[in-house]
Amino acid sequence: MGCVDRAVKRRKPSLANSPVPADSYLDVVIERRKTRTIQVGKVPVGGDNPISVQSMTTTKTADVEATLAQTYALAGAGADIVRITCNNVEAAEGLAEIVPRSPVPVIADIHFQYRLALGALEAGVHGLRLNPGNIRDGNHIREVAAEAKDRGIPIRIGVNAGSLDKDILARHGSAVPAALVESALEEVRLLEEADFTDIKISVKHSHVPSMVASYRLLSEKVDYPLHLGVTEAGPPPGGLIKSVAGISALLLDGIGDTIRFSLTTDPIEEAKAGRSLLEYLGLRERKEVDLIACPSCGRAEVDVFAVAQEVQERLEGEGIPLQVAVMGCVVNGPGEAREADIGIAAGRGKGHLFIKGQVVRVVPEDEMVEALVDEAHKLAKEGVEARLAAADGVAEELAAETAAELLQIQGDANSTEARRRAVAEVAKPGK
Ligand code: SF4
Repeated sequence: MGCVDRAVKRRKPSLANSPVPADSYLDVVIERRKTRTIQVGKVPVGGDNPISVQSMTTTKTADVEATLAQTYALAGAGADIVRITCNNVEAAEGLAEIVPRSPVPVIADIHFQYRLALGALEAGVHGLRLNPGNIRDGNHIREVAAEAKDRGIPIRIGVNAGSLDKDILARHGSAVPAALVESALEEVRLLEEADFTDIKISVKHSHVPSMVASYRLLSEKVDYPLHLGVTEAGPPPGGLIKSVAGISALLLDGIGDTIRFSLTTDPIEEAKAGRSLLEYLGLRERKEVDLIACPSCGRAEVDVFAVAQEVQERLEGEGIPLQVAVMGCVVNGPGEAREADIGIAAGRGKGHLFIKGQVVRVVPEDEMVEALVDEAHKLAKEGVEARLAAADGVAEELAAETAAELLQIQGDANSTEARRRAVAEVAKPGK
């Protein structure tokens, strides 16, 4: 049985008369691998806890106000935990001011200098990230572990393909998955020897298949929580695609307890992307609107791209956790988007507003976005039943008439019989 078969299961319907059909895709859930739980400040990571989103500030840590402003922005965009570099003494001093004022737990990112880890712990950080590729002295690691243990602070072993331990790299020839995992396990051994087990691990690679293979291999060997990421993914859209590919492959296997998109762009985009990915995979509750839209085609009765853009702008940030559909024509729109909570479809100069596939109102086309936004707010407040009860009684009929008119004009592209008849007519001998 493959990983995905093991991890993706169907949830049993909770009620015999559930409105969701027993074979609905809404029943599919991801079964997560069992890991230990560690506590990063107020955020539990691992076990059955929600998969958390991380991002990293790009400001100079010594600039306390700028770093705090970015931390608040990241938290607002969906980051549960923020990592901040601690690369010099001034940065460690900055952390002492930043940590008590931060809205989310802070992890200090440490490279090369173990004393900065001790400084960050003194500053009150909620977690450390150590790179085993550049903090290699066992005594130094033990000293940091002892101090972290006294304070109850977890450590992430952050292995990175680009800064792998030189000896390990030499043994394996290149940064293959087995090399990354060996580096992580070597650090685990050192920490465990120091009686330290508040550990999470990452084995990041910029090559997506190698990243996925590294985490799969590691997850067979330890039950510590794993922090997922494709390192140095680059700017969007390439960076986004690589991150989604690598992180999703693992999450669908049930692997991963916290994630970060490493994008070469404003880190706000990282936090938003991380949060959205978890929502789309059904691993976190949706907080914001999920806009779906048809790709448009020759049947479209409206500029779908422009309408979808306008709807996105109007509903984004409103805290309305609905799935909203924008469909180019009333012939196929309401039916194809029947799983959406609410949507609009265009037809013959009108906007057809529908809830769960049922047309509830028909408005002039230039008012349809306004009507959709208004109805989305009401739907979020009052619920589906109340809004269906308030539907315009003739809306369904009007929509059906318009769909029939369009079919007359354009033909039914979905009717196999009609297509066969048309082809037969043209192909008939003697014509
Ligand atoms: Fe084309 Fe209508 Fe489908 Fe949009 S909903 S892709 S316009 S057929």
